[in-house]
Amino acid sequence: MPDHVVVIGAGAVGAATALTLAREGHRVTILEPGEPGGPQAASYGNACWISPESVVPMGVPGIWRKVPGFLADPLGPLTIRWRHLPRLAPWLAVFLRANATVAKLERTSRALAALLVDAVARHEALAAEAGAASLIARAGHLYAWRDRAAFDADALGWRLRREAGIRWIELSAEELHQREPALSRDYTFALLIEDAAHVRDPGALVAAYVAAAAARGATLVRGRATGFVVERGRLRAVRSDAGEIAADRAVIATGAHGKPLAAALGDRVPLESERGYHVVIRDPEVTVRTPVMIGDARTPLTPTAQGLRVAGQVELASLEAEPDWRRAEVLKQLALRLLPGLPRDLPAERLSLWMGHRPSIADGLPVIGPASGCADVIHAFGHGHVGLASAPKTAALVADLLAGRAPVIDPAPYSAARFR
Ligand SMILES: Cc1cc2nc3c(=O)[nH]c(=O)nc-3n(C[C@H](O)[C@H](O)[C@H](O)COP(=O)(O)OP(=O)(O)OC[C@H]3O[C@@H](n4cnc5c(N)ncnc54)[C@H](O)[C@@H]3O)c2cc1C
Repeated sequence: MPDHVVVIGAGAVGAATALTLAREGHRVTILEPGEPGGPQAASYGNACWISPESVVPMGVPGIWRKVPGFLADPLGPLTIRWRHLPRLAPWLAVFLRANATVAKLERTSRALAALLVDAVARHEALAAEAGAASLIARAGHLYAWRDRAAFDADALGWRLRREAGIRWIELSAEELHQREPALSRDYTFALLIEDAAHVRDPGALVAAYVAAAAARGATLVRGRATGFVVERGRLRAVRSDAGEIAADRAVIATGAHGKPLAAALGDRVPLESERGYHVVIRDPEVTVRTPVMIGDARTPLTPTAQGLRVAGQVELASLEAEPDWRRAEVLKQLALRLLPGLPRDLPAERLSLWMGHRPSIADGLPVIGPASGCADVIHAFGHGHVGLASAPKTAALVADLLAGRAPVIDPAPYSAARFR
């Protein structure tokens, strides 16, 4: 009888993990309260980028100087809601310290690179297996700035990307506007990373991974995990609001909701939601051909199956706080500025708005590896800004850890033990 593994959560990480484990012959149950691929998950509403170049965490040396600005501007690209500051303080303390020196930042960057280096090929392989190859577009990524000096200001970030093996081509203003005629002429310098991709519909990709896992025998149970039954150090069952599910092993892939489950097994981790928003403009009339990251706005524009998606913003509040839809309006205004050919009077029925929870561990790395209170349970949450891209590599690492094989990458940087 094969191991029975309960994969808790069916976002990109849980879905890729369930498919990988089902292929390897485990008996898999997926425990998820929502529709796999649905808007309850960060994996639905993100910017769709499969970006091997995302090797620079949000916290960088000197970030502490910007904290007063984060608190002062409620609609800035990164804000902290005052009311939540006391509860967020422990997370912020780790965030400010974790990558405070270049040496620490380089370590974090190398650990991100290990998860991302082959992200495009791994998603392509999983998507092909799930009959969803057409959802992945290997169209490259563009990064655009007002001028070269604005790019030079982030020399450290681009040095780290170069060291991670990322290659790019510089584009002049003319080359940029030939490729992206709809983009504002305010942007005169760009880089093209050819070896990058995006997902045309990330919700559909997650649903396809879950369906492929089901075709290999995985079962979907609608419910929310609430804890574990552990006897003499071995997992006996996962507790849920749908009842107890007997299990030999479990994977916590609940994104921003991982904290209480990890704590139940003795791991206290600095996990918070970095709330993000998107606006999708249906039939946008003008759009970008390649996903574009606008340097000064730190916001990507992505062509998707549903229309032009503008996704971004980082709002530190809580999992429960009401969305602040003015932030989606900020994204819409940004799109109007960046693409001057968009109609000014976009009717509400052509816009869809979303808010979701980036699962953010304060040091910029996910938690992947055995729980300290029970090695039968593997953590796989907290992927922050790169959870869509890094889901297949996470799945491969989890599968290796469950099988007791030599792991595909060194798991040490992701261990929950780093916070003990
Ligand atoms: C605006 C924005 C833009 C982004 N852009 C990108 C991008 O371009 N590229 C990229 O790689 N990443 C991006 N990200 C980050 C990425 O979306 C996340 O890191 C990733 O989706 C996390 O996947 P996950 O499976 O861990 O969590 P989720 O997708 O959040 O899924 C977690 C699932 O667990 C379920 N769950 C929760 N609690 C329980 C429980 N107790 N029991 C059972 N199930 C439970 C939830 O219902 C949910 O379905 C972005 C995020 C945001 C918000």
